[in-house]
Amino acid sequence: MLERPPYLRDGAAIYERSFAIIRAEANLSRFSPEEAEIAVRMIHACGQVSVADSIHFAPGLVKAAREATERFAHLVDHEYWPGMAVQSDEALREAIESNSWGHHANGTARMGRRGEMLAVVDGDLKVIGTSNVRISDASVFPHTPGSFIASAVVQIGEAAAIKAIAEARGQSPLAVLDTIMQQA
Ligand SMILES: Cc1cc2nc3c(=O)[nH]c(=O)nc-3n(C[C@H](O)[C@H](O)[C@H](O)COP(=O)(O)OP(=O)(O)OC[C@H]3O[C@@H](n4cnc5c(N)ncnc54)[C@H](O)[C@@H]3O)c2cc1C
Repeated sequence: MLERPPYLRDGAAIYERSFAIIRAEANLSRFSPEEAEIAVRMIHACGQVSVADSIHFAPGLVKAAREATERFAHLVDHEYWPGMAVQSDEALREAIESNSWGHHANGTARMGRRGEMLAVVDGDLKVIGTSNVRISDASVFPHTPGSFIASAVVQIGEAAAIKAIAEARGQSPLAVLDTIMQQA
C-alpha cells in the first residue's frame, strides 16, 4: 500500500514539496542551476513536467533583436518597448523583470495619470474621462503584483467598493473603512 505523505498546512512547506517532486520528475539536465529554478517555477505554474522540453533561455534577446532589425531600420519608426533609452544589461534586465508576468493575465486597463501611455483608470479606479465608471478587476494593476494575483484582485474590489460608497455618502474612504471595521 502507498504511504500517504504527511498533510501540510504551511504554505512554504507545500511549495517546497511540490518543487521537490518536479525536480525529481522533470528532465532539467540541460539547464544551469539558475535556469533550472525558473524552469521549476514554470512547470509548477502549468502542472506539466513535459514543459521543460519547450523552455529555451535566450540571454541577450533584446540586443539580438535590435541587431536583427538594424537591417530594416528604414522601415521602423521607433522601438516601442523597452525603447532605445534602455541600453545597459542591468537596465534591460530591470525592464524585463518589471514587465514580465506569470500565467495570470493582468494590467490591460492600467491605473495611471491622464495622458500616461497605457493608463485607462485613475487612482480612484474611474475610467479616465468619465465621471462615474469604475473598473475593479485584474486589469487595473500598473505593475504585475506577482505570479499569484487573486488576493490583490480582492483588495482592488474592496477598494472600489469603499471608494464608491464614500463618493455616494460624501465621506472620505477612510471614514467608510472605519464604519465597516466598527461593524465587523
Ligand atoms: C484555473 C485557474 C486557477 C487559478 N488559480 C489561481 C491561484 O491559485 N492563485 C491566484 O492568485 N490566482 C489564480 N487564478 C487567477 C485568478 O483567478 C484571476 O487572476 C482572477 O480571478 C481575476 O479576477 P478578475 O476579477 O479580474 O476576473 P474574473 O475573476 O475572471 O471575473 C470576471 C467576472 O466577470 C463575469 N463576466 C464576464 N463577462 C461578463 C458579462 N458580459 N456580463 C456579466 N458578467 C460577466 C465572469 O462571469 C466573472 O465572474 C486562477 C485562474 C484560473 C482560471
